[in-house]
Amino acid sequence: MDVEIRFIDSSKGKGLFAKKSFNTDYVLFEEEPLVSCQFSWNAECKYRACDHCLRPLESAEENARRLTGNFNLVLPYPECCTTKKDKIVSCDKCGLEYCSADCLISANSQYHQTLCLGTRERSGAHPLELLNEAWKNIHYPPETNSVMLIVRLLARIIQSENPDVAISQTLQFCHRTVNEDNELAHKLLGEKFSDQIDNLLTLIKQALPHQVIQQFLTEEGFKSLLALIGTNGQGTGTSALSQWVSETSKLNLTDLERKDLEDLVDKLYQDIEEHTGCFMNNEGVALYMLQSAANHSCSPNAEVSFSNNNNKLALVSLKEIKEGEEIFISYLDECDLHRSRRSRQKVLMENYLFICNCEKCLRQCDEPDVSSDEEDDDMDE
Ligand SMILES: [Zn+2]
Ligand SMILES: [Zn+2]
Ligand SMILES: [Zn+2]
Repeated sequence: MDVEIRFIDSSKGKGLFAKKSFNTDYVLFEEEPLVSCQFSWNAECKYRACDHCLRPLESAEENARRLTGNFNLVLPYPECCTTKKDKIVSCDKCGLEYCSADCLISANSQYHQTLCLGTRERSGAHPLELLNEAWKNIHYPPETNSVMLIVRLLARIIQSENPDVAISQTLQFCHRTVNEDNELAHKLLGEKFSDQIDNLLTLIKQALPHQVIQQFLTEEGFKSLLALIGTNGQGTGTSALSQWVSETSKLNLTDLERKDLEDLVDKLYQDIEEHTGCFMNNEGVALYMLQSAANHSCSPNAEVSFSNNNNKLALVSLKEIKEGEEIFISYLDECDLHRSRRSRQKVLMENYLFICNCEKCLRQCDEPDVSSDEEDDDMDE
């Protein structure tokens, strides 16, 4: 391992550090998540993905047909589609689909045995189905998180051969005071906060009546889990069509063939924009042990990448990183990251409860604030 988690001090907590020097654009490490899940609306809207690793289950052509609404569409170069339809398996009890037998086995051994609904005919009355519905009513797209991630985290403890180890792994993500947990849970659930907490917690208790997870099934324990997924949850995305596009770019084509292909791809994305809008990918959220230890900087030296087309994360250097240097990622999305210092700090405070003292923020501290009223209005919406 070329990186390590170190304790910095009591105010900063942990950080991720380089154990050797890295060049720019270098994969520092790859890791699979402790748990992950697809977003509820994303799954409901027929974005077909492996229930364990989020790998697409549609072929690129099926994906393009659904997203454009054109069911006669034929994609050339079918050999560039990376979806292995013949490897897809499903749980013989509930029918959930997986990209491979390996994923089915992993899901079962980690959490699915506990969470399997056991019937292909959904009544809608199982506490887990009610929980999913309740969450969907709080969180409309664009989705950023899922209570089902908490459910998997708990099921993972229940199924663990050594629950104490699984609990301490879970607690490694929690480092908040009760007040901070409260504030973060509030931020995640929005206005009808306290009613929601009761409702969600009651359903989880009904679905998972297990002594071993008792400490998480109090109001305080549950809020700490909400704060945990709110501050550590990493968005993940996969797409059969983007994979196909990137594979076709490697083909050896004549100029004319290349031009035709580029026109076709442009047209495809235009049609998708019109029919589906911007929600193209299978999307979900996951928890990563190493990546979640990386602190934020508005001028990060590393970024997250998902080049395997599943939930396996790679951390890639954006700059040269020297041995012993701290590795920073950005907690802000691309759009927020390019806003003024004041706007960035506002988003970070609301979502993560800290004042950013990164090198860029310190540098901009003395500069006049360029944030316009208009920008602040945007942010308040
Ligand atoms: Zn899979
Ligand atoms: Zn099942
Ligand atoms: Zn900053």
